[in-house]
Amino acid sequence: MARRPVIAGNWKMHGTVAETAALAGALRAQLGDRELASEVVIAPPFTSLTAAVAAVKGSAIAVAAQNVHWDKKGAFTGEISAAMIAETGATWAIVGHSERRQLFGETDERVNTRIRAAIAAGLRVIVCVGETLDERESDRTFDVLGRQIRAALQDLDAAAMGAVCVAYEPVWAIGTGRTATPDQAEEAHREIRRMVETAVGREAAEELRILYGGSVKPDNIDALMARTNVDGALVGGASLEAASFARIVEYRS
Ligand code: PEP
Repeated sequence: MARRPVIAGNWKMHGTVAETAALAGALRAQLGDRELASEVVIAPPFTSLTAAVAAVKGSAIAVAAQNVHWDKKGAFTGEISAAMIAETGATWAIVGHSERRQLFGETDERVNTRIRAAIAAGLRVIVCVGETLDERESDRTFDVLGRQIRAALQDLDAAAMGAVCVAYEPVWAIGTGRTATPDQAEEAHREIRRMVETAVGREAAEELRILYGGSVKPDNIDALMARTNVDGALVGGASLEAASFARIVEYRS
């Protein structure tokens, strides 16, 4: 079945309001205000969401938050709720990025509650999974992915899954310049799709967009996107430059 690709740029902690307006504007100028073959998403820091939304209004580019809290409101100093994100005009949230898991104590259970809160507020979600180098080298990649997928999707039905994309992001490939080969990505994505079928059902699994993330660049995107189960990309460093992200969006397959 044809799955419409999703190409998302994770800007991490880069982008003041002014820088966000400039970069989002430059990307818009590169892509032009037209229908795009892929869904294109940019994820600036929380403080720049409103500026990003204003800069891409009227274009095909959508805006994502990089995280979302699981509760609606309350005594959660420093946190941002799904409704607060939606109010900015952002329509997506990234959940479970490996930097959150590794540096900020994110757990599989919390990933699930964040996804459910985001969906309840009408946001779409990119949920990140991926193994460390140690886990890959000790042959535990699929165990880790299985655990992360089962926990992330717990209690989500097929309808909710319509709002979810999975990003396979091997931790050893993020920000390292070391990309998974197209074969490694395809193998992991195929396995993830099988896991999702077991967890939520066949139709949801076939419709699910599975993005690859980890040192995606203009010179490796074409080969990655040529693979059957690679339905898009989550891009860090290369999304911080309009021309390189535009080339990734306009991949050739
Ligand atoms: C990411 O942050 O999700 C990512 C994949 O980063 P990079 O493209 O820089 O490896």
